[in-house]
Amino acid sequence: MTSSGQNLRVLVIEDEAPIRRFLRASLETQDMQITEAETGREGLSLSAAAVPDLILLDLGLPDIDGLEVLKRLREFSSVPVVVLSAREKERDKVTALDSGADDYLTKPFSVGELLARIRVALRHRARAAGAPASRVEVGNLVIDLDARRVSKSGAEIRLTPNEYRLLACLARHAGRVVTQKELLKEGWATTLSSREHYVRIYIHQLRQKLEDDPARPKYLISEPWVGYRLKIDD
Ligand code: CA
Repeated sequence: MTSSGQNLRVLVIEDEAPIRRFLRASLETQDMQITEAETGREGLSLSAAAVPDLILLDLGLPDIDGLEVLKRLREFSSVPVVVLSAREKERDKVTALDSGADDYLTKPFSVGELLARIRVALRHRARAAGAPASRVEVGNLVIDLDARRVSKSGAEIRLTPNEYRLLACLARHAGRVVTQKELLKEGWATTLSSREHYVRIYIHQLRQKLEDDPARPKYLISEPWVGYRLKIDD
């Protein structure tokens, strides 16, 4: 992250001092300005007062639950939020994403992951505010959302309408995790109980068509228990 990190104001809401230190050290080398809050209450008041460009929000806070902080925050702010979560709390991650978080990091995470998530969250917000992307390029794939055409290394890939709909949804959020619920909003013409199963099937089919090695996908990444991510180059 070269120039984009400069003077970016990041609010860290996290009660564990070692993690705050790690975040501060990692982000200050990118010329970001860090504000720290140790509790949910302090985090909410600083969100309003300091008007950060991005928030890193721990879900396990001592006073107010991180998910509740997120819900209250979304009543007055559309600031990008990346949630910090423990590995075993998959349900919380899904709830956070469905409650307006832009993405999440699972502890422990590396500086590389942290910066990649921040970049994607900022890009996602910027895109949401402006015109929707009409063309998404990932590695040797090109997804043309206007023409509804997908190609790999210049050769057109034929997709079924449902495969295309699923891929287009991931492409519109390229880089960001998309939850099962968001994918299901795309309107699969099946009963609710079978839908998640269908998402898995279409992802499988898309991998067969798009990935060099469908068993080791580079583009269509599963986020266990949460959803899928179209991985873009960092
Ligand atoms: Ca915590």
